[in-house]
Amino acid sequence: MGNQDAVTGNTQEPDNPKESLNLLTSTQRVIKEALEKLGYPEAMYELLKEPLRVLTVRIPVRMDNGEVKVFTGYRAQHNDAVGPTKGGIRFHPEVTEDEVKALSIWMSLKAGIVDLPYGGGKGGIICDPREMSFRELERLSRGYVRAISQLVGPTKDIPAPDVFTNSQIMAWMMDEYSRIREFDSPGFITGKPIALGGSHGRETATAKGVTICIKEALKRRGIELAGARVVVQGFGNAGSYLSKFMHDAGAKVVGISDAYGALYDPDGLDIDYLLDRRDSFGTVTKLFTNTITNKELLELDCDILVPAAIENQITRENAHNIKASIVVEAANGPTTLEATKILTERGILLVPDVLASAGGVTVSYFEWVQNNQGYYWSEEEVEQKLEQVMVKAFDNVYQTAQTRRVDMRLAAYMVGVRKMAEASRFRGWV
Ligand code: GLU
Repeated sequence: MGNQDAVTGNTQEPDNPKESLNLLTSTQRVIKEALEKLGYPEAMYELLKEPLRVLTVRIPVRMDNGEVKVFTGYRAQHNDAVGPTKGGIRFHPEVTEDEVKALSIWMSLKAGIVDLPYGGGKGGIICDPREMSFRELERLSRGYVRAISQLVGPTKDIPAPDVFTNSQIMAWMMDEYSRIREFDSPGFITGKPIALGGSHGRETATAKGVTICIKEALKRRGIELAGARVVVQGFGNAGSYLSKFMHDAGAKVVGISDAYGALYDPDGLDIDYLLDRRDSFGTVTKLFTNTITNKELLELDCDILVPAAIENQITRENAHNIKASIVVEAANGPTTLEATKILTERGILLVPDVLASAGGVTVSYFEWVQNNQGYYWSEEEVEQKLEQVMVKAFDNVYQTAQTRRVDMRLAAYMVGVRKMAEASRFRGWV
């Protein structure tokens, strides 16, 4: 007889249970545990384990060669008890409905952790923007907005950038939405260019948030940032800016990577040079021959490891080999639950994704507030407010982990789920 998996009902062999790499079922498991710890009834879990709504759309796009290609996209709205749903749109060949659902739940948790008046949402399109032209991307972005326009809006669901989407894509989407509604709607989407109502500091916000978490984690461990050895996996928006901030703060960035490989230099890499040479998708290692693998990168000797790329990178296969004393998750879902347990037991301080990567949505909230007010803030104001929010959120999660004797991921879920559970209860939903 095998063990019953509480969420999926799957039967697993007791001797060698398979590690769960499914983001949705892993998230559901922690949500369940968090709600139980907080004393909510089973019905609350039933409400929060899946998004309230998921829309699947088919988007026909006229490609540059004249042929029509039909793309599949999703928009998931996890919970809107607290306020409109909020979260990015990713363009990636490996997008799945389950992934978008899990990501929408994480957005709800992030909003709860940094205390924003939002629930979580997320969108995705199955496509490879690295192989599409500028105009094809524009047609795809506009087609997606037309397909989801009934479901979204500045007081309903507010999209933003995510993996392989950027401020230009947000600009096309905002323009398309404004045309459909027949009035200018900057508050429909965040992460826009400054000229279209974007906020100062949004471009670097995720990396700034991660930097603040790193500083807070270092304080708890009594380690100085100057001279600390940092390894960053991924050189996209979060990874590249983070490497720069670490480098500028006097830390030694000894390893970085992209989807094709990794670079290592125990004396510290020349980050400014690498930033200069990366392409818009964060690819840079192709220019070098002396590369190592992403797998080797994660196991390098360092003080701080920042997975800022994709999911399921630290698993039970490599968790025992991680040498960092602090792991800060800038990506969504880079560490499995089994690996979380191993790292925690090994005394490694893990700052979970739903806390560490919440800087992006925090400044998105500031952008939306500025759009609603029509009054714009300076970069200093944005940074000061972000710092306040992130320090408070870190402290809250850290204290919860200490006082409730739970790991940092469960603590973050407990903090993140509480407001939406309370709001759902006050509305009389549960
Ligand atoms: N896509 C980002 C995230 O996963 C930002 C979302 C937003 O700004 O709304 O947190």
